[in-house]
Amino acid sequence: MKPRQILVTSALPYANGAIHLGHLVEYIQTDIWVRFQKLSGHECYYVCADDTHGTPIMLRAEKEGITPEALIARVHAEHSRDFAGFHVAFDNYHSTHTPETRHYAEDIYARLKVAGLIEVRTIEQYYDPVKEMFLPDRFIRGECPKCAAHDQYGDACESCGAAYAPTELVNPYSAVSGATPVLRESEHYFFRLSDPRCQDFLREYTQRVGAHGPVLQAEAANKMQEWLGAPGENKLTDWDISRDAPYFGFEIPADDGKSSGKFFYVWLDAPIGYMGSFRNLCDKQGLDFDAYWGKDSNAELYHFIGKDILYFHALFWPAELAQAGYRTPTKIFAHGFLTVDGQKMSKSRGTFITAESYLAQGLNPEWLRYYYAAKLNGSIEDIDLNLDDFIARVNSDLIGKYINIASRCAGFITKRFDGKLSDMEAQFDFGSSHFTPNKDKPFGEFSAKAESIAALYESREYSKALREIMALADSANQFVNDKKPWEIAKNPDRNEELQQVCSIALNLFRILTLYLKPILPKLAAEVESFLNIAEMKWADVNNPLPAGHRISEYKHLMARIEGKQVEALVEANRESLNPVVAAVDNSHSQQRHAQHQQASEDRTQQSPWEPFIAIDDFAKVDLRIVRIVDAAHVAGAEKLLKLTLALGEGPNPETRTVFAGIKSAYDPELLVGRLTVMVANLAPRKMKFGLSEGMVLAASDADSPGIFLLSPDSGAVPGMKVK
Ligand SMILES: [Zn+2]
Repeated sequence: MKPRQILVTSALPYANGAIHLGHLVEYIQTDIWVRFQKLSGHECYYVCADDTHGTPIMLRAEKEGITPEALIARVHAEHSRDFAGFHVAFDNYHSTHTPETRHYAEDIYARLKVAGLIEVRTIEQYYDPVKEMFLPDRFIRGECPKCAAHDQYGDACESCGAAYAPTELVNPYSAVSGATPVLRESEHYFFRLSDPRCQDFLREYTQRVGAHGPVLQAEAANKMQEWLGAPGENKLTDWDISRDAPYFGFEIPADDGKSSGKFFYVWLDAPIGYMGSFRNLCDKQGLDFDAYWGKDSNAELYHFIGKDILYFHALFWPAELAQAGYRTPTKIFAHGFLTVDGQKMSKSRGTFITAESYLAQGLNPEWLRYYYAAKLNGSIEDIDLNLDDFIARVNSDLIGKYINIASRCAGFITKRFDGKLSDMEAQFDFGSSHFTPNKDKPFGEFSAKAESIAALYESREYSKALREIMALADSANQFVNDKKPWEIAKNPDRNEELQQVCSIALNLFRILTLYLKPILPKLAAEVESFLNIAEMKWADVNNPLPAGHRISEYKHLMARIEGKQVEALVEANRESLNPVVAAVDNSHSQQRHAQHQQASEDRTQQSPWEPFIAIDDFAKVDLRIVRIVDAAHVAGAEKLLKLTLALGEGPNPETRTVFAGIKSAYDPELLVGRLTVMVANLAPRKMKFGLSEGMVLAASDADSPGIFLLSPDSGAVPGMKVK
């Protein structure tokens, strides 16, 4: 069989934040697939890059007082470290801020322009007059035009879910400077996705079934039908591919070779980073770029992505490539989002877990790889990391079933037989066990499963593959339990049988290791070293450890997860952050290209204050300035003072009686005449000492003594509403 030529990508992480467990779903999913292809003997390359351009990078670098180049270099090192920590083995992990990516961005732009698919239009956009820059939608905030919720982003309301244009926001302000933005005209460049050539191509492409199967998963293909509309309908809109200076990115070449003052926006540089990264690899290794990216390429090209960027990868990107004369993706593999314990990842719950903290807490990255694999399939369904199930599953499957086989048998071989295995000829009655040696099929059904397990890896049905593998592990354990080598070992007359039972068990363990190798690469390498064999390929399934083969001494291969390790991990990730600052910092990834599923959580769940209340909820509380016109001790009450509060000025103001727990801090006489704030619409509450008709506001803290009654600034008068 001729090896397949395969190029694989994962979505480019934005160079403005840490890799977290949500990101890792995709990289681990892709890495398993790539490792499987390589094990199968195919020529497979896995490339990725940091997505480094845009306003958020520019502003963050400015805030840190460094250049954008320094910022992206630092983040590149962090990302590379995190991926390596989880054994995600890219053949090249590059950056979009490179000559290669610039080359292909300019090349594709020029070709689209020649094809008449680039159009220049004047648009009106919000401009920050203080910062002197056009504002991305996410950097404009204001009141929702639909529900009047305060402090909403320029493109959508988080309170009522409405989507709108930034110009519809009420009382808009710049999240960069706080200034009121003004509308300014500017020329923008558009890719004409609505052109009939793109429409026609996409109608065919999104339903295409090629030599390797359908380009899109069924659910994705259906979605595309919806987005494309009925034949004859034109639902696609042209895409804005430019931004004005100041911007960190590649300047769009002007016709006269002079400065255009316009920069390629994400659509025309980030995904081109796939090409840039591969070009860089080609140059380093002498590979033929065109064999993979050329129009007539026979190589397979696969993009692994989150379902949130499907629109872009299944419509815009293939249209852009096809119209520019490059090949299009063979398939696009979308996956779902990660939840932790059934909910969105959350900083306040400690479930927004960074890759770095997972490793720093000493947790084994292969535990997570195994658990994700046990949850992943070929669909775009979300997957849940249930922390209790994570512990239980890793301990029962990996330690209890898989590792157990070797740990129970290896010692006898090293201690009693000088590490040497016996031959595999059946000299003993192994009953109807399917491990009965057979010259054509060593270990019978056990190795015969290689084909079906391979098919499951190929179709990304990792959870099904693991079910098959663990069923085999059960059988292997059953074999060891039935034979009881620890019993046989007590009888020196049964030495030969002991050696054979353990040799068979270790052979089964070898096959299981091979099946698990795409998921557990480091463990597999340790097993190869323990078994004293060369790196296994998939085809080695039928190459048993021969008679007389000497294994190395068994060392413990993997520890159990302790519940307290996971508790410590969650605790280490529980953060109290200023929600507004965090929101601005991370807004980019969602707004710019929804690069990853956790983007929206980045914005909404970084605070310890959740769940947030809507402005309407707050508005239900009627807070009023009141004057304390009388204050007295209450006979028999240890903590309470009885306050009489006036809700207005004048001779006969409306008054309320409130019992307040402030006796330890205030002398009633000194309170009389003071202004404070009360909750005026709190339902009256019958207390032992009388009816309390509201509540006064005071600050206190469990950690420090004292109660501090609120006072308004001078000028406030009783009856005024606090809002
Ligand atoms: Zn709203």
